[in-house]
Amino acid sequence: MNLRISELFFSLQGEGPSTGTPAHFLRLQGCDVGCRWCDTRYTWNPEGGRAATYDEARAELRALGEAPLLVVTGGEPLSHPGITGLLERALGDWGAVEVETSGIHPPPLRHPRLRWNHSPKLPSVTERWAGTWRHTAAFAADPLTTFKLVVGDEPDLADALRLIREHELPRNQVMLMPEGLTDDALRARAVTLAETCKLEGLRMSARLHVWLWGARRGV
Ligand code: SF4
Repeated sequence: MNLRISELFFSLQGEGPSTGTPAHFLRLQGCDVGCRWCDTRYTWNPEGGRAATYDEARAELRALGEAPLLVVTGGEPLSHPGITGLLERALGDWGAVEVETSGIHPPPLRHPRLRWNHSPKLPSVTERWAGTWRHTAAFAADPLTTFKLVVGDEPDLADALRLIREHELPRNQVMLMPEGLTDDALRARAVTLAETCKLEGLRMSARLHVWLWGARRGV
């Protein structure tokens, strides 16, 4: 199986329901969703990065240390050719696997140890935002899906609450996460989101890796 790898690293999962868990990260190349605040623009070109087989990527990750969790991210992993085969192999090699996706494509499989961190985009983020909400019902049908909404300013928050209602997202599966790449920006927005989560019965996600190490690659 040939993969187009952006980067492989060992860190803690910084976002979503598994925050704080030691994890191997496999970042794939290729994304055409075009988010204006994307912090991984180096993944957009599907021809970028480097080629590696699944076995080579697994060996490189294992050489970094043992981890109970593999996070498959991007880019947009569900746009990557062979993603289903990659996930099937990974489930044989790791105790748990998570996929970070915009949701522009539907979930290709279900498995009791496979989590989807589905991050549909708000209208201010990209012209393609509506496409990232198209498959929310298919994701919601899997109880191992978490909807992780990245929220910036007040209009973003109003859009997020409206879209959660319109798409009838199960609230115990929804996390709001502040947008931002600095401590100050994240904290100011997090305080607002915390109050909203209390009022609306939603959960909140931090950005642990930004807090620990700042906005840089490989963490
Ligand atoms: S979906 Fe993810 S990788 Fe693609 S542009 Fe948006 S934030 Fe960047």
